[in-house]
Amino acid sequence: MKVAIYSNDGFTSKEVATQLKEKIDASEKLEYDGLNPQIVISVGGDGTLLSAFHHYRDAISKIRFVGIHTGHLGFYTDWRDYEVKELVDSLEDDNGQSVSYPLLSIKVQYTDGGPDDSFVALNESTLKRINGTMVTDIYIKDEFFEKFRGDGLCVSTPTGSTAYNKSVGGAIINPQLNAIQVSEMASINNRVFRTLGSPVIVPPDETITIVPDSPKHNILTCDQLLISDRPIKSISYSICNDRIYFAQYRHTHFWKRVSNSFIGVHEDD
Ligand code: NAP
Repeated sequence: MKVAIYSNDGFTSKEVATQLKEKIDASEKLEYDGLNPQIVISVGGDGTLLSAFHHYRDAISKIRFVGIHTGHLGFYTDWRDYEVKELVDSLEDDNGQSVSYPLLSIKVQYTDGGPDDSFVALNESTLKRINGTMVTDIYIKDEFFEKFRGDGLCVSTPTGSTAYNKSVGGAIINPQLNAIQVSEMASINNRVFRTLGSPVIVPPDETITIVPDSPKHNILTCDQLLISDRPIKSISYSICNDRIYFAQYRHTHFWKRVSNSFIGVHEDD
């Protein structure tokens, strides 16, 4: 089985990556292949997993991810830095087990006459405006839904629901559900202006389209990346045809993961 390592630059991560590489090279069942891997081991935290996802985006349907965390939050990274041997043993016994989660498709049209863009996010995409209020129309399934005024909007996957989405008051969604969510950032609500004020979760056949009143001075992100500074006509969000696959050698119940990461370790852990 072909395995790649994608590490951040931290001291511990680099040490873990070196140990992993040595064990993979010594294994008769594993082969190191950074170009066409079947398994990608990210070493760092969730941010490193996001970077690994974007690095291997074009081959995403052929890859399963595994994460080792080295002192970060590590919400989506199942293995600790002292478990390198156990992970390599599991890789050697691999029988293709995996779990897959939905991704966010982002399609952008511009007013400059140039080509449209499309992107895929593992966590979320945000549209923000820093100088002044962002004013946009929101359509759901091509029907006008509301006019939003505020700092911005965050459209997230279930995987991303525990990231930025959580900080702006979105709901946490178990990634077994095929859905996307749009959450508000500091909406203006008074006698004159009104938004729903709640996160909205839509099913797979519904597209969320955002049409900014002003094409300029908007900031569009996809996970940790700033993706466009061109004048935006509209952005359409839907569930992507591709999914992300994780090699599931151990299973942590999603809600246990949530409570361990955000509330604290239980006495019985
Ligand atoms: P960062 O600012 O270095 O890290 C943001 C934090 O979010 C880290 O603690 C990271 O965990 C955690 N995280 C990332 N994905 C997560 C997920 N799916 N569930 C739970 N926690 C998660 O930025 P980064 O490492 O480059 O990551 C980019 C992500 O940061 C964006 O996709 C966005 O979700 C998030 N972000 C959040 C805010 C906010 O909450 N106000 C603002 C900007 C961006 P690790 O420590 O394990 O890496």
